[in-house]
Amino acid sequence: PLRCAKALQLTLAVIKPDAVAHPLIVEALHQKILAHKFIIVKSKDLVWRKQDSEKFYAEHEGRFFYQRLVEFMSSGPMRAYILAREDAIGYWRELMGPTKVYRARYSSPNTIRAQYGLTDTRNTTHGSDSVESAQREIAFFFPEFHVQEWMERLEPSFR
Ligand code: ADP
Ligand code: MG
Repeated sequence: PLRCAKALQLTLAVIKPDAVAHPLIVEALHQKILAHKFIIVKSKDLVWRKQDSEKFYAEHEGRFFYQRLVEFMSSGPMRAYILAREDAIGYWRELMGPTKVYRARYSSPNTIRAQYGLTDTRNTTHGSDSVESAQREIAFFFPEFHVQEWMERLEPSFR
């Protein structure tokens, strides 16, 4: 069996509608996920209704960009992944770079958002920002997936 020195952590990564609209960007991001040794636990393509978008981003309700964000995220297909890796949450957020594309281009030009982002809202990707949000967001996108059950099937060295 495979061996792993450190425990695997799960995160939710999403390729947002702006990036899914460009097949070559989706392909590049998929290759990046593999190149950085994430395990793709699950993936699906989906389109949100407006109310899914509102619910997922409820924490931002009232912010000036909320309506724009909600409409953008329900404007077309997305691809969601459950990714596993040592330190998956922080690692994926590092690869994405800062939320704001123009800041990302200036401060971290090799990140996904710097390279492929269009605007501060249309910024190519989402990643969970904590263990708690990863749990909540994985359940939001993949209600049929049971983290505990999945973990229990792994060799103890992975957990
Ligand atoms: P992140 O996606 O990096 O966790 P936030 O949780 O703060 O960032 O915001 C959620 C999403 O809302 C961002 O990814 C982006 O699409 C949008 N957003 C955040 N801040 C702004 C902003 N200042 N202007 C426009 N859109 C924003
Ligand atoms: Mg966030």
